[in-house]
Amino acid sequence: MTKMTFLIALQRLQRNRWLKSSLLMSSLVICNIANANPADNTKMASVDQILSQQHQCSASLTLRSAALTPAQQQAACAQLAAIEQRFHQLFQSAGKAVRHDHNTMLRANIYQSKQQYVEFAGQHFQMPTDNGGMYLEGFPDQPGNQAEFVAYQREQGQVWNLSHEFVHYLDGRFNLYGDFCATLHDSHAPPENCPTPAPDTPYLVWWTEGMAEYVAHGTENQEALKLAATQQFKLSELFHTGYERNHGSDRIYRWGYLAARYLLEQQRPKVDGMLKLLRNGDYPRYQALVRSWGTSMDQEFSQWLTQQASAGKTALQPVNNGKYSAN
Ligand SMILES: [Zn+2]
Repeated sequence: MTKMTFLIALQRLQRNRWLKSSLLMSSLVICNIANANPADNTKMASVDQILSQQHQCSASLTLRSAALTPAQQQAACAQLAAIEQRFHQLFQSAGKAVRHDHNTMLRANIYQSKQQYVEFAGQHFQMPTDNGGMYLEGFPDQPGNQAEFVAYQREQGQVWNLSHEFVHYLDGRFNLYGDFCATLHDSHAPPENCPTPAPDTPYLVWWTEGMAEYVAHGTENQEALKLAATQQFKLSELFHTGYERNHGSDRIYRWGYLAARYLLEQQRPKVDGMLKLLRNGDYPRYQALVRSWGTSMDQEFSQWLTQQASAGKTALQPVNNGKYSAN
């Protein structure tokens, strides 16, 4: 395929559903698609050639990789099985997918290195590669749709954000009705190209990213706990966090973690009421609910942050009656 026909095909692509992994977003923008040499495209190895290993962890997870060792495959499967169990314990959601969701299984696609990811992932998955990995939800309402996580191994062989991305998959299947564009955010970037204009805030970015961090890291999130001491944000402000405005890695991921964790641990009835709306895709009523909360929890959130900040300082010691749980 020539560069031009490839680019036209790219524009016509079905809109993949994806979430950013901005924790790992590189400031260096490398676009292998725009820079691809047309002559090279004809030689492009297929995804099956590059990611030639397949390992099924469970009914809900398959690993496809270039170079994961058997031990690394086993470790990844065990790690994600624990995440899945934690998620379903938290939400009592096992076996209760939202309506019209056919994403029965996630396939994690792991390239051998960042270099290989940049070279191939753009053409294999029609996605940008100036990031640390992506979750492509696809069209969950379509039978046969395949949800994909695409990432790469780091220097030590580990795959960053694997747990976080798997939580996105679980959240999309068990908590949030509809696809990525249906939920509330302000990202219009390709390959998603969600329609403009963005809806008004409040969004769901604090929840999707913050809850994913909470399930992935549990109470062990030292970077977030350090930020808690700054009291930089009120809870009522964090509901307006976006990807394009009111954003930044700390605000999206670390403050999102603090907001989601506070709600889940201290305001569970409110979360359950919210989840009823999200599972039905009733996003206008979600926004009305969050607006009705207003600033009512700001003071308690601030006090909770103070407690967490002091607990974080002694996190390596058993504190809080020894309840400090490791991942
Ligand atoms: Zn994410």
